[in-house]
Amino acid sequence: PAVISIKQISKTFSNGTVALREMSLDIRQGEFVSLLGPSGCGKSTVLRIVTSLTGPTTGRVEWPMETAAQDDHGLSFVFQEPTLMPWATVFGNVWLPLRLRGVTKRDAYDRVMEALEMVGLAGFAESYPRELSGGMKMRVSIARALVTKPKVLLMDEPFAALDEITRFKLNNDLLHLWETFGWTVVFVTHSVFESVYLSNRIVVMASRPGRVVNDMRLDAPYPRG
Ligand code: ADP
Ligand code: ADP
Repeated sequence: PAVISIKQISKTFSNGTVALREMSLDIRQGEFVSLLGPSGCGKSTVLRIVTSLTGPTTGRVEWPMETAAQDDHGLSFVFQEPTLMPWATVFGNVWLPLRLRGVTKRDAYDRVMEALEMVGLAGFAESYPRELSGGMKMRVSIARALVTKPKVLLMDEPFAALDEITRFKLNNDLLHLWETFGWTVVFVTHSVFESVYLSNRIVVMASRPGRVVNDMRLDAPYPRG
């Protein structure tokens, strides 16, 4: 079944830029979908519309599996930059989404530590972001996205700012987490390598106007040794 159903969305910005034209896409449960395309083809706009950060000009996004009672889509977002709070510890940063939902530090403790363990940072709970490398900061923001146990993880070029080696390590970690926990992931990238290596479905977009030009299912992510 589809977790997210994007139906004929178009987006024209107030300056006249047509970012998307009649794009439709069903994302199924457990898929790791890459949205692949050149800069400016509307990938971020798709994610912003899915997360309701902006509205489509026409069309709509449906969540077929939601019950009407739920007001939260169980969705987490990882941005290109880690966007951590510098004054809070690693623990405090990962606790934040739970804290905003009213979960005390004591009640959050096990879940925060579990999320930090998933990304290999359990030993850094009391460190501050400034003490961490770029790759570690990105791991913290992934832990922060996972701590609420989202149904869908949306990532917008999450590793773009990192060096190639760190990026490759994080790709492997992400793949391992996905294989272990079976989330639904939507991963925006302009890297053909990343899309082939990570995902089991590649949705290729083209620009002017942004639209889907190919939708490929792979049997499994690229085989690894
Ligand atoms: P909307 O049509 O959703 O209201 P706006 O055109 O008002 O969007 O722009 C929203 C914000 O995006 C503004 O702060 C604007 O400065 C910024 N913005 C404008 N052009 C671009 C662009 N080409 N790429 C990214 N951001 C832009
Ligand atoms: P991508 O993520 O694939 O690089 P975007 O979704 O950021 O592409 O942008 C798609 C197109 O819409 C681009 O031409 C971009 O300049 C334009 N755009 C994005 N945001 C705005 C905005 N707020 N106002 C005007 N144009 C925008």
